[in-house]
Amino acid sequence: MILSAMEKAEVLVEALPYIKDFYGKRVVIKYGGAAMIDCDLKKKVMQDIVLMKYVGMLPIVVHGGGPEITGMLSRLGIKTEFVDGLRVTDRDTMEIVEMVLGGKVNKEIVSGINASGGKAIGISGKDGELIKARYIDPTGRLGFVGEVEQINPQIIETVIENGYIPVIAPIGIDDEQQSYNINADLVAASIAVAMDADKLVLLTDVPGLLKDTQDSSSLISVLRVSEVPEYVNEGIIAGGMIPKVQCCVEAVTGGVSRTHIIDGRVPHSILLEIFTKEGIGTMVVNE
Ligand code: ADP
Ligand code: MG
Repeated sequence: MILSAMEKAEVLVEALPYIKDFYGKRVVIKYGGAAMIDCDLKKKVMQDIVLMKYVGMLPIVVHGGGPEITGMLSRLGIKTEFVDGLRVTDRDTMEIVEMVLGGKVNKEIVSGINASGGKAIGISGKDGELIKARYIDPTGRLGFVGEVEQINPQIIETVIENGYIPVIAPIGIDDEQQSYNINADLVAASIAVAMDADKLVLLTDVPGLLKDTQDSSSLISVLRVSEVPEYVNEGIIAGGMIPKVQCCVEAVTGGVSRTHIIDGRVPHSILLEIFTKEGIGTMVVNE
């Protein structure tokens, strides 16, 4: 599709109400899935984030890295297992999770944003004790899988105030400085609430929440919090969608008015969600 100069101008003007609405507002983006692996998509996500920043929004990036962790574990011959969408994390696995998320993945995203003309700073939940964590399952069945106990957002405030885009690896710590592997969706939601964000956008590899995972036309465009228990019982919300939906519920009930699960495989999906009326994916609402 090639646009004339006039059409380009019209596209920009169409975005004006959204730019005005979100000026100075905080938008948390959970980055994961295919959009993190495919080079072309990766670049488009970085451009979207940088553009958001330059039109006056304050993007805060929280990333996952599941496929990279699985890749590294298999290279090292360490087996990995999932329970309800969460990776069972023993001591060896935790070491790799921290290396891959905090080292490789985090810095790649920082480089990507910088290369697209933005200014990013990468941190993990250890920096400034950003994410205090505890065992998600105190029986120990899941190992060092954590849940957020508390967010200390001062470090993010400092980063934002100085004009940088924070890029956060979902590693938590407890009082003994033990590291925890926390699902990035849960971290994104807690940070969105703690930072008083106006919007939370979760990028994933499906069009949104589907009634039937085999049928991409069965998208649930609006999910009400009150409908969630029923969908969980029916097995519609399953696997990785369990923490994802749980996180959206936590965010909308915690005051983040706009929460969306969108398809990161669609080029520029973040821009489409933020700057167009149509919106895409599943919007979770507090009803
Ligand atoms: P991410 O990296 O985005 O967190 P996950 O694998 O953790 O991805 O979660 C998304 C996955 O959840 C989908 O790829 C799909 O396999 C699974 N899933 C389970 N139930 C549903 C559903 N009802 N609609 C869409 N996806 C679902
Ligand atoms: Mg997930």
